[in-house]
Amino acid sequence: MVYGALDIGGTKIAGALVDAEGRLLVRHQRPTPSHGSAEELMAAVTGVLDDLAVHPAWASLSCLGIGSAGPVDTVAGTVSPVNIPAWRSFPLVDRVRRHPAVPRGTRPVLVGDAVAMTAAEHWLGAARGATNALCMVVSTGVGGGLVLGGATHPGTSGNAGHIGHITVDQNGPLCPCGGRGCVERFASGTAIAAHALESGWTPPADGAATAAEVAASARAGDPRALAAFDRAGRALAAAIAATAALVELDLVVIGGGVAQSGEVLFGPLRHYLASYAVLDFTRDVPVVPAGLALDAGLIGAAAAGVAALSGTGRSVS
Ligand SMILES: [Zn+2]
Repeated sequence: MVYGALDIGGTKIAGALVDAEGRLLVRHQRPTPSHGSAEELMAAVTGVLDDLAVHPAWASLSCLGIGSAGPVDTVAGTVSPVNIPAWRSFPLVDRVRRHPAVPRGTRPVLVGDAVAMTAAEHWLGAARGATNALCMVVSTGVGGGLVLGGATHPGTSGNAGHIGHITVDQNGPLCPCGGRGCVERFASGTAIAAHALESGWTPPADGAATAAEVAASARAGDPRALAAFDRAGRALAAAIAATAALVELDLVVIGGGVAQSGEVLFGPLRHYLASYAVLDFTRDVPVVPAGLALDAGLIGAAAAGVAALSGTGRSVS
């Protein structure tokens, strides 16, 4: 069995053929023409599929999963990625299905990128074997997905677990989503860097104003950098505590570039979580770093394709 996978992001469009153990047999990618036309974007997807289709394993293709930057609509098969402006309600599933190399009868399976990451972590990463887990991506933005009852839970339109846009401060800053005080406005890499700058932190002469540089300053003891991560960890803790109360989590997995900051983020997060998650059934939920890094999007897209193939909604195990 060979699973096809596409991972559509703001910087690259990647594709792979994945075997039943989750190993990548072949991988191709093209830069995302993020400010190109809808058809220029689709041409990049078509190019990646062309590259994959010449691999001998393509003949054994049993399913094709697509993970995309969101929002997605898995019912309509459309994508409207925030960071890819030319695609609004773009019929990606139908267009991929009509690629000449895609076997007739193959219905590509679309999931959001955070749901794909969740499926990957549940299959092969830190959430392997978990029954109820929250997987988060803390990066330029904040996303997430849920494992409930041993299966990934994408929700009706594929966006369930979108924890970055839970309000954690009713009087907090407006969010581009239209809400107020969203987790993302405190905990994204963008928000961490912005808060540090506003409080007087300056990046090193040879560095940029990124969350990674704020993390380096925090490790060196800079109080403004530490405060930015404290604020981020506190927002994440509030959202995790709320989720734990709603669905009884066994595990929280955090991936994405900001999670690479390590204890600078996880320290305050665990500290505040201990004070917010105080009910017996929410207390002491383990919070761990993601187990997969680079190809989690592709592995997760493959896992989503397999789950749909089996018709159970259950992740492969
Ligand atoms: Zn928001």
